[in-house]
Amino acid sequence: SHLLVTGGTGFIGQRLCPRLLKAGYDLTVFSRQGDADVRSRCGRVRPLHQLKDVVDLPDIEGVINLAGEGIADGRWTPKRKQALRDSRIAFTHELMDYLSRRDQKPPVVVSGSAVGFYGNQGGQPVTEETAPKDEFTHELCRDWEAAAERAVDWGARVCLSRTGVVAGPQGGFLKRMLLPFRLGLGGRLGNGQQYLPWVHRDDVVSALIWMLETPDASGPYNVVSPQPATNQHFTRTLGTVLHRPTVFPVPAAVLRMGLGEMSTLLLEGQRAHPERLEAAGFRFEFPQLEKALQDAVR
Ligand code: NDP
Repeated sequence: SHLLVTGGTGFIGQRLCPRLLKAGYDLTVFSRQGDADVRSRCGRVRPLHQLKDVVDLPDIEGVINLAGEGIADGRWTPKRKQALRDSRIAFTHELMDYLSRRDQKPPVVVSGSAVGFYGNQGGQPVTEETAPKDEFTHELCRDWEAAAERAVDWGARVCLSRTGVVAGPQGGFLKRMLLPFRLGLGGRLGNGQQYLPWVHRDDVVSALIWMLETPDASGPYNVVSPQPATNQHFTRTLGTVLHRPTVFPVPAAVLRMGLGEMSTLLLEGQRAHPERLEAAGFRFEFPQLEKALQDAVR
């Protein structure tokens, strides 16, 4: 059957699309990039370059919506914040506008979100029921989720992936961390007690496919490993995996000065649990940090 994927060329999408193709799906991938680039990242998919063309696609059995400017790709200036919002919220509204104009509407929409939905939660355990703190990442995720939930209007099942910090080979946040760690210059960030709700990319992909294919799945799911780590624990484990010391802590003040408000991504966090996935019997391939990192740095 035929699926529409946005953000399919990204770090998660590059792993998701080949898995879906292998499972026998036909894929249309919306992208701003050329056909050859899309196919080199995603495999044998049909590239789509204008959202309005969504109206005329053949029957769509499901949508996986992951498009969005990189949250850590630049200081959160007002202009950058607007780009982060537009590429998710305005984009998803536009996608919903065109989908709703179709005679045949997709029965299931799986859409991106992030554990940033909850804002900074300190050390308290976070489930899908936890009341969010009102800050930039919360507003961003809240409005992004609300845009996707418009598909409920035509009776679609909507699942929201509140994704944690994704670890996997050749990309994501680990890519930025690896060089200093490999040089033996790694260390905890701030006091290291903040939680890092990490998740292996293969488990993110499996969770997205599970949401797509599970008839009674709907609503928000924390897509994080069942064993959240503090920054300090994460740092030590990464050092162990790379056989390097991690004795160079980076003071919080330095991160705040260098990154501005974006430093909250590193200095704050969520002790998030995949409560609803676990309750539904979802099995993680990489529940344990050391094994996940061993795979991600290979
Ligand atoms: P990437 O940044 O690797 O890829 C995102 C994709 O979104 C790109 O391939 C790009 O497609 C598309 N995109 C970017 N900007 C725009 C835009 N202005 N308009 C339309 N499309 C755009 O992201 P990931 O794969 O890492 O993550 C996928 C989603 O999951 C993201 O929305 C991200 O916020 C979210 N997420 C990711 C986490 C992580 O740790 N990786 C954590 C939590 C949430 P193209 O260039 O082909 O147009």
